[in-house]
Amino acid sequence: MRRQVANRLLLVLALAASGMLWGCAPESLVSTSDEVAVGRQAAAEVEATYPVSRDPAANQLVNDIGRHLLSQTQPRQGIEYTFKVLDVNDVNAFALPGGWIYINRGLIDQTRGNRDQLAGVIAHEIGHVQAKHHAEMMGRSALYGIAIGALTKGNVTQWANLFANLNLLSWSRKHEYEADTLAIDYTFASRYNAQGIIDFFRVLQAEQGRGRTPAFLRTHPLTEDRIERAQAYLNRKKSGVR
Ligand SMILES: [Zn+2]
Repeated sequence: MRRQVANRLLLVLALAASGMLWGCAPESLVSTSDEVAVGRQAAAEVEATYPVSRDPAANQLVNDIGRHLLSQTQPRQGIEYTFKVLDVNDVNAFALPGGWIYINRGLIDQTRGNRDQLAGVIAHEIGHVQAKHHAEMMGRSALYGIAIGALTKGNVTQWANLFANLNLLSWSRKHEYEADTLAIDYTFASRYNAQGIIDFFRVLQAEQGRGRTPAFLRTHPLTEDRIERAQAYLNRKKSGVR
């Protein structure tokens, strides 16, 4: 057992020395098919834990918005997006590796029928997948480094457990800025008002101010700086300045 650990460590060190592990973009270490394998298993775990909404209108709504937003960009090759509503009160939405996107009923209720806000949130989740944020997180880990080439079954399970555990996962500030920027790009190009996501951030902030921290803020940390950056980016786009 000790020898196995030592061998793994040696392999990681050798990869690091060869520059394979840290010498290139971490997301490039992870194949799309590995990302999809992890996402598929994580999606099964999520759906075994939380009830998928049987409300056809709610599912239709998030699908219509999601498909419309995807038509404004070039979806990544090998990724099939799936949009589902979970019958959960928490105000939250999340994306799994490989394109499984879940929106909680509580979040839809919180937008109070404002489609621009809902579209902004869905666009943000698409942004995490399009920008390969899951792959970047995996690629940064020595756990993935050990399995370069293809993940073993055990590694797929470990990663799936992590992504399916919504209490563990929290995006970095950099990931959030990137996903916000992409959300504004997609909604700006769409039939929705790109101000929607920023308006929704203000709603969440107000909720937090009342002592009710929406679950969305745990997985997608929100700061005043983040809101200001998003607003400034949108204003630049509106005025045609890049
Ligand atoms: Zn996010």
